[in-house]
Amino acid sequence: MRDMKTCRNFKTYVLIGFLGCISLMVLQRCTIDDQKSTTYQKILKFTDDIKVINTHEHQHKPEEYGLDTLNFYHLLHGAYLMQDIISAGAQRLDMEPLDTLDLNEQWELFGEYLKYTRSTSYYGHFVKGFQKLYDFNDLSFTEKNIPSLSAQIIKNYSNYSAWFDSAYHKAGFELMFLDQYWNSFNLNIDKNYYALVFHINQLVMQASNHPSSSEEIHSVYEKASEEGFTINTFDDYLNYCDHLFQKNVEHKAVCIKSSLAYSRTLYYEEVSYEEAKKLFAKSSENLSTKEAETIQNYLFHWIIKKSIEYDLPFQIHTGYLAGDGNYLENSNPLKLNNLFIKYPEAKFVLFHGGYPWTSEFIAMGKMFPNVYLDLVWLPQISREKAVIALDEMLDCVPYNKFFWGGDCAFIEESTGSLEFAKNVVAEVLSKRIERDLLTEDVAYDIVKRIFRENAIEVFKLEENLGREF
Ligand SMILES: [Zn+2]
Repeated sequence: MRDMKTCRNFKTYVLIGFLGCISLMVLQRCTIDDQKSTTYQKILKFTDDIKVINTHEHQHKPEEYGLDTLNFYHLLHGAYLMQDIISAGAQRLDMEPLDTLDLNEQWELFGEYLKYTRSTSYYGHFVKGFQKLYDFNDLSFTEKNIPSLSAQIIKNYSNYSAWFDSAYHKAGFELMFLDQYWNSFNLNIDKNYYALVFHINQLVMQASNHPSSSEEIHSVYEKASEEGFTINTFDDYLNYCDHLFQKNVEHKAVCIKSSLAYSRTLYYEEVSYEEAKKLFAKSSENLSTKEAETIQNYLFHWIIKKSIEYDLPFQIHTGYLAGDGNYLENSNPLKLNNLFIKYPEAKFVLFHGGYPWTSEFIAMGKMFPNVYLDLVWLPQISREKAVIALDEMLDCVPYNKFFWGGDCAFIEESTGSLEFAKNVVAEVLSKRIERDLLTEDVAYDIVKRIFRENAIEVFKLEENLGREF
């Protein structure tokens, strides 16, 4: 009997002890989780106070689409998310036919496919823009919530300038680099929001494509003739390209930009002036693909030399290609390796994390003092890959070489991109703080550097734009 009692007491002690341990573990777990969420929230809060220098945007005004105002589906069609919707099976419509359909008809066309994109980063960042700027708190777009959201969008876009201004500041932007690839000769941009980027694709591609009878609207040759330049020889062509450099510098361009991986390989072999000149003299229709590429290769090297002469960093698209299909292999950042060796004085800024070659992109930044890494667009392509990439970047490359940009057509999407990027940065840095790999002070410095200070420094914004930041 006594033994039984002792045994019962013993069991009670064991039970109390066990429950005590569990409570302690739960308490410790809660404290760790609280610390974690507190660190993440603290870093995130800090990012909200930064006046962001956004190194890459393609902002369009509604009139550039021939529209007075925009609704939800217009924004969707201008957003990266539309590519996922097409990938899911939907058809792409131009803006004009889109305009003839009401919201129900548009839901009929796209709703089913929109549903399958709810897990993608294109979807996630698009939602975030509306959560930040609009009276929209849902996690996804539905047949039910789109009409009221669309009505708010129409109202905002009925006064685009006022809407853009308020959204731009609410999002936290101080400056956006504007790459007008669709109108690359336009030098008159609104300096209240934008810094000019000199987009050089046409200079390279049209060197091997002399005008035929039907000229493109923005062709280099047409623009040259408008300005009183005659292009008969290769020297004439280079002379006019140099004139374009000078004009862009006069209009305070802060960098040059190439997205040539959409049109050709990023491997630019060295070509002699004599060879390029000889090929330029041939009629463009008679050039083989190889010969056309040879002229382009010369131009690309020539442009790098000009970027050194005019002290303009060179932003280069690498990795994943937007749109409905292309040759991904062309965009591998490793194909640029020869240029980094040949031109140590040039400043190369690699874009998009080189996705999916993020480690190759990072290795280039580690190997070359003159190679900088821009996270632009990577969080929207894959949020989780951006987390891994930034962590690896911090392991391998000094953080005074990192930038961030949005790469979007509308302010809603740029805002969502920034929100997404802030989440990525806060997640990576807070985890490092929790593992004692980083102090909070260093984390704050990294945040300031990525979203603002590196751009001010590397693109010499105070000197180039003649104002303080
Ligand atoms: Zn872009």
